[in-house]
Amino acid sequence: AKENGKNNYRYFTTEMNESMTKRLDIETGLRKGLEEGHFELHYQPQVSVLDKNIKGVEALIRWRNPESGLIPPNDFIPIAEDTGLILRIDQWVLQEACSQAKLWQDEGSFHGRMSVNISALQFKQRDFPDTVRRTLQDTGLDPTFLELELTESIIQDPEHAFPVMKALKDMGIRLSLDDFGTGYSSLSYLKDFPLDTIKVDKSFIQTMNNGLKDQAIVNSIINIATSLDLTVIAEGVETDDQLLSLQQKHCHEYQGYLFSTPLSSKDFIEKLNRGDFQ
Ligand code: C2E
Ligand code: CA
Ligand code: CA
Ligand code: CA
Repeated sequence: AKENGKNNYRYFTTEMNESMTKRLDIETGLRKGLEEGHFELHYQPQVSVLDKNIKGVEALIRWRNPESGLIPPNDFIPIAEDTGLILRIDQWVLQEACSQAKLWQDEGSFHGRMSVNISALQFKQRDFPDTVRRTLQDTGLDPTFLELELTESIIQDPEHAFPVMKALKDMGIRLSLDDFGTGYSSLSYLKDFPLDTIKVDKSFIQTMNNGLKDQAIVNSIINIATSLDLTVIAEGVETDDQLLSLQQKHCHEYQGYLFSTPLSSKDFIEKLNRGDFQ
């Protein structure tokens, strides 16, 4: 028993050391990535349910690590949040997304919305609206083409969130509520906040056709949002059945692997020019 306990202890510390080393490696890599430009944005189309017109794209960050290749955000964003590096990453994302949208407009290749994910820490910064204003001025992007994706956790503190959202709306920026349905007291948010769009979380879309109760939930979200004059985007649409249901429910837009995975800027424009989307 003693021997066994000893082994457990040793095993435990080794594992702890490994995860700490891994975190440190990621932190060092993120700093280097910021300095050397290892981040890129991929763009996933947001598409009209009725006619498959591409209304906008969501910018999604990727980290191209020289040693381990392309790393998805869920593998590094939590560590970036713990270390505060997320603020520098977020600012890079905003700048890059706005200048990309402006570039597409200038070359005449794409004129839709650009949706950018906003982290809680970024939104909490006192100068956030000013930062956004400055980024729009620097890049020359018309504010009406920018949509910021906020989560329910971000706007959990209404006394702070409301004036910030109001300031952004007054600049002409669009606001979207991401992952809708996964947080708390969601319905009151829809009424009280100056939102333009809600994104129905993919967990609802993927179970939508399981039965009548699952159908009813998606129906209700779409009906309430529509009656409040919000644009509804369904996330994570992977099958023709799901798209068909969304058509029947009069959902406005969808996003998901069925239409396209997130693409590099180059691949997105090439596909657009070839008329390859459908
Ligand atoms: P999210 O904002 O909910 O983004 C949607 C995620 O769903 C993306 O994952 C996208 O690639 C994925 N997705 C799209 N279509 C489908 C589908 O049909 N099926 C399934 N199963 N998944 C689909 P991704 O790119 O790995 O991003 C994960 C999360 O990381 C995002 O969730 C967002 O919370 C965060 N994130 C991504 N980019 C940024 C960023 O630039 N800044 C911040 N702060 N967070 C970001
Ligand atoms: Ca999002
Ligand atoms: Ca989402
Ligand atoms: Ca999410």
